[in-house]
Amino acid sequence: MPVHDNLNPHSEAHLNGPLFQNALTTMREAAKIINCDPNIMERLTKPRRCITVSVPVRMDDQSVKVFTGYRVQYNATLGPYKGGIRFHHNVDLPEVVGLAALMTFKNSVLGLPLGGAKGGVCVDPTKLSRNEKQGLTRRYTSEISHFVGPTKDIPAPDVGTDPQTMAWFMDTYSQEQGGYAQPGVVTGKPVEIGGSLGRNHATGLGVIYTCERAMEMKGATMKGARIVIQGFGNVGSFAAKFATERGSRVIAVSDVSGGYFNGDGLNIIEMIEYAKTNKSLEGYTKAQKISNADLLELDCDALLPCALEGQIDTHNAEKIKAKFIVEGANGPMTNAATKIIHQRGIHLVPDVIANGGGVIVSYFEWVQDIMSFFWDEADVDTKLKGIILKAYDNVYKFQAEKQTDMRSAAMAVSIQRLEKAMLLRGLYPR
Ligand code: NAD
Repeated sequence: MPVHDNLNPHSEAHLNGPLFQNALTTMREAAKIINCDPNIMERLTKPRRCITVSVPVRMDDQSVKVFTGYRVQYNATLGPYKGGIRFHHNVDLPEVVGLAALMTFKNSVLGLPLGGAKGGVCVDPTKLSRNEKQGLTRRYTSEISHFVGPTKDIPAPDVGTDPQTMAWFMDTYSQEQGGYAQPGVVTGKPVEIGGSLGRNHATGLGVIYTCERAMEMKGATMKGARIVIQGFGNVGSFAAKFATERGSRVIAVSDVSGGYFNGDGLNIIEMIEYAKTNKSLEGYTKAQKISNADLLELDCDALLPCALEGQIDTHNAEKIKAKFIVEGANGPMTNAATKIIHQRGIHLVPDVIANGGGVIVSYFEWVQDIMSFFWDEADVDTKLKGIILKAYDNVYKFQAEKQTDMRSAAMAVSIQRLEKAMLLRGLYPR
């Protein structure tokens, strides 16, 4: 079995990625606020297990290509490991370690009974045929199958993977378990094989639930608010739709083709249809074209970055005019920019809470699969609202009491929960 556990203390290259280093900085600052036990911090700053596998695939031309895959199981104190699988040409072990750490802290701050993990294969999935992608998914699943399972580690889709990929994952695992259907091994599946209603729009809806609550706390309201959204994919387009339904004016959105502005409010339903038909907003003419950089600096009530990492940094943090920033994307703001945004009195809903809707409904999917009893969409949306707002309120209260920023507060609340659980469980063997 080609497994390399993280047992060699001299081989720490996998801990040096920028994402993980950023997370470590936030963790250490947060640990100071709560005076976290240093022995717990020592354990929390290392992944529990890093699995590297070779994934041979027979390509359509009959040649065999070997791809490299990973599954990093960061921390399982609170429950089975949970986190997505990414198929992307930039996937490497340091990136997967950083993403697995973020999942650990996200699941903890959201109050879910889940640990944190992440997986991926270094591959450009757009260059694979459907057949090759299926072969890759099935062999990757098989290579990590000893480490996953409904009570062990439950993957989900991420960049480059989708419900179909999860269906192949579930089928491969089930075949290897004697052919008995095991829907609880993976979430983000199609509804027909145990997926949850409401999963598709969950992240965008969570962004809007938390945006609405943040505004309420500051005496503002979504009705009539001017909203700017970077990214018009799954998260950004649903956030735009739900904002419009609450009477907000979405004045600008962007995607890879650039930004689109209309001060009176964009026709979001039409733009969603346009993007579906044309694969992007390229060529949409019923709005003024602006750059992505200009979009971030527009005068508005709330800015929702829902595209990429590192979009708000020290170069533009001083120029942001929004009163609220709600992070639909993972890591859209650097640590240094977070300090500037906090000093300027802009209210931030950090990524671990704002985009938590996806993993919350993934958790619901796992629960429904275990019970073999499925909820309707309204039930899913209501339960999502309860969990995400409770997490927001906890973190808001903590930052107000400790006079810190929302990102540090979210990390501190997360570490506090993990610390209590780790102290209760103790250190095996003693
Ligand atoms: P997606 O691929 O559906 O959409 C991404 C969008 O960003 C697309 O509209 C794309 O055109 C746009 N984009 C790409 N480059 C851009 C650029 N340079 N400028 C402006 N826009 C650009 O992805 P998604 O699922 O919507 O995820 C977006 C972010 O949210 C990612 O950071 C992801 O990790 C995070 N996230 C997603 C979920 C989920 O459930 N989908 C859950 C949690 C976090």
